[in-house]
Amino acid sequence: MKTLAKKDINKILGIWAQKHALLAPAKMDNGDCIFGAFDEKTFTLDYKKPPLSPKSFFFPQAEIIFRVENNKYNEVVAAKKGLIFGLRSCDMMGIRQASSFMSRDNEDIYYKARQSSAATVVMACPHAQNETCFCTTTLSGPVAQKGFDLQLYDTGDVFLVEVGSPRGEELLAGIPLAEMEEAKAKLKIDEFIKKARLTIPEVKSVASAMDKLKDKKVAEKVWDDFGAKCITCGGCAFVCPTCTCFNVYDHQNSPGNGLRLRAWDACLYGGFTREASGHNPRVSQALRLKRRHEHKLLDYNKTDIQDGLCGCVGCGRCSDYCPVHIGTLEVVKAIAG
Ligand code: SF4
Ligand code: SF4
Repeated sequence: MKTLAKKDINKILGIWAQKHALLAPAKMDNGDCIFGAFDEKTFTLDYKKPPLSPKSFFFPQAEIIFRVENNKYNEVVAAKKGLIFGLRSCDMMGIRQASSFMSRDNEDIYYKARQSSAATVVMACPHAQNETCFCTTTLSGPVAQKGFDLQLYDTGDVFLVEVGSPRGEELLAGIPLAEMEEAKAKLKIDEFIKKARLTIPEVKSVASAMDKLKDKKVAEKVWDDFGAKCITCGGCAFVCPTCTCFNVYDHQNSPGNGLRLRAWDACLYGGFTREASGHNPRVSQALRLKRRHEHKLLDYNKTDIQDGLCGCVGCGRCSDYCPVHIGTLEVVKAIAG
């Protein structure tokens, strides 16, 4: 198996940055880590789960999808050759899940253009990033099974390099590499995964909550109680790597000139499902929360579990950031009783 020396990582990222818009973990002045444009000065390998997943790389918070200039229609499909370095396996699974959704029924050309032109380098998780990680329960970690171009295992001074695609092979061209005997590398990876799993225990209430949802045995009071607490900030949807709700806005600058843009929306907002007639099928916050969690834990499973794809990838961000503690972990515990 190929290996990379950790001391060379800045040099390697510099090489990749010459040909790609490179996103990598960056440490901010306040100590937070984000996925940002690669910069040697802010780049860090000492990072935890960034507050925002890298979904905005493929699905920006707001993007123009067409312009009308002097009555002429111009579609805007923006895609530059990108590379996301340092993804965790839950976020890799989030990309696979969102990509599956965005190509179901009708291909979303704006998402597809960005996603297919971006390479991914996963950094296998050596341990839980914090107490809300539950990727082993949703089959999305601690290491990625597929979808990546390269996956790196940090073994101290060197990264073991798993190649996941022909594009991954191309990324390694011109990079300083060494070799480790396959059997020895496999042992190291098995040990890595075993150690990581010990720090990310299975959350048994997820499976029992899924069963109760499937059997329609969840008391309405569970949703009423959460609905009474929710302040409708939408934060849980915005931090979630698999949430892809959006709304579309038209803006006229002058007669014959304007644009259409789409921007993130959230199923927890009252207006999201309000119909033109004024009727709203999900009229209360309780119903909206119920639908959100069915979407995360029930419906996708019916169609996607064969491929290990679940609407929730166990990143724990909704539990980290909901100001009133209505993350998926809290919800499954309440459902499971
Ligand atoms: S529902 Fe919560 S835990 Fe699941 S993927 Fe979204 S943010 Fe992460
Ligand atoms: S983050 Fe919490 S309070 Fe905000 S919309 Fe989501 S559930 Fe409601």
